[in-house]
Amino acid sequence: MRSATLLQETSILQEMPVEMPRAKTRSITVLGATGSIGQNCLRVIAESAEGRFTVQALTAMNNVTQLVEDAKRFRPQFVAIGNEAHYGQLKDALAGTGIAVGAGEAALVEAARMPADTVLSAMVGAAGLRPTLAAIERGAMIALANKECLIAAGVLMKEAAKRSGARLLPVDSEHSAVFQVFSRTHPEWVEKVTLTASGGPFREWTREEMQSVTPEAALRHPTWSMGAKISVDSATLMNKGLELIEAFHLFPLTPDQLDVVIHPQSIVHSLVSYQDGSVLAQLGTPDMRSPIAYALAWPERIKTRTPRLDLAALGALTFEAPDLSRFPALALAKAALREGAWACVALNAANEIAVEAFLAKRIGFLDIVSVVEEALAATQPGAIRTLSDVFAADRAAREQAETAILPLEH
Ligand code: NAD
Ligand code: MG
Repeated sequence: MRSATLLQETSILQEMPVEMPRAKTRSITVLGATGSIGQNCLRVIAESAEGRFTVQALTAMNNVTQLVEDAKRFRPQFVAIGNEAHYGQLKDALAGTGIAVGAGEAALVEAARMPADTVLSAMVGAAGLRPTLAAIERGAMIALANKECLIAAGVLMKEAAKRSGARLLPVDSEHSAVFQVFSRTHPEWVEKVTLTASGGPFREWTREEMQSVTPEAALRHPTWSMGAKISVDSATLMNKGLELIEAFHLFPLTPDQLDVVIHPQSIVHSLVSYQDGSVLAQLGTPDMRSPIAYALAWPERIKTRTPRLDLAALGALTFEAPDLSRFPALALAKAALREGAWACVALNAANEIAVEAFLAKRIGFLDIVSVVEEALAATQPGAIRTLSDVFAADRAAREQAETAILPLEH
């Protein structure tokens, strides 16, 4: 507790301009509400001060039970389920509540078009692109967790945001960290950005040991609790590769200014190095409610109920260089970033297919990155200028990945 007598009367902060808007209720639409990020977002909303947030719309792909429970609790105006087969069940469960219901991809886009102040994009995969773009086009604030859509269409999303006045606010913990310590006024002072990576569950494993990794083992992440796809991406380190591309789109940096360091405790969420030798980092316990709260309340900060950081109890934070020979996904993603937009679309699309095949036990763990590499090599380079270019490159890479999977299936 701060006591008035101990509080200094002057501080250097008094000289600084304060431009905090008055707190008001913000309406939030959650795309991918039943997932790990979506549920954490609803926890942030439930745990925040009365009247801080309202929920405008919720969407999910398949989990009707969770969606109905959350709709009854948060009373949105509209709820959409991606899989049309569940429409009847959703409609019956919400009959008489006054909550409108929709199904199919068009309904997900309709949800994004509802006039919420902020849209949390937390679907998984490039499938999130159309709804996220719909929210950008109407000028909403976008709390962006769905990194795959940015990797597939970052330039188009930013152009659309410029036209509409939409703001992209990162939710990914590393990018939220960078966003919090990156100079708004003088980006040219920044020398380098270093993303931290936990190293995943197989950080110390040999390639030989990784050969027999099962989906169950890959899903057990040492520090974060997340959805299946990103957990596998974290185990191959493809997640960090995708995050390099994500950072490239979010901040004014060249690929050479982006770096990765392994930090198994996941306490330092990322670092920004300045030209005077200072390094600013953002720290916190590994709990997604903190970066979600920052994106929802930005530019303000709200209270969260995340466990507080106790450095003395932790004792030590460790760092090591990533081993690109054991984790080739990182090198592959770096190469795609240098290659250009089509290679990033292809990398992401092929990876989505390969991860699905691994989770379905069609291929082994080490095959994931081999499939992506093969699909990338077989995909025809092309310019990415429009959304149809993105979808064409995405489709081609998915087909190449399926072709690469066939001889590996067991
Ligand atoms: P998840 O699998 O737990 O949840 C995904 C959500 O999206 C679910 O609500 C699901 O119903 C919905 N969904 C799935 N496929 C869809 C489709 N084709 N169309 C529409 N909706 C669909 O995933 P998650 O872990 O919450 O991750 C969501 C996104 O956030 C991913 O892009 C991931 O990379 C990113 N992210 C997650 C974390 C984390 O801690 N979980 C951290 C950083 C970034
Ligand atoms: Mg991350």
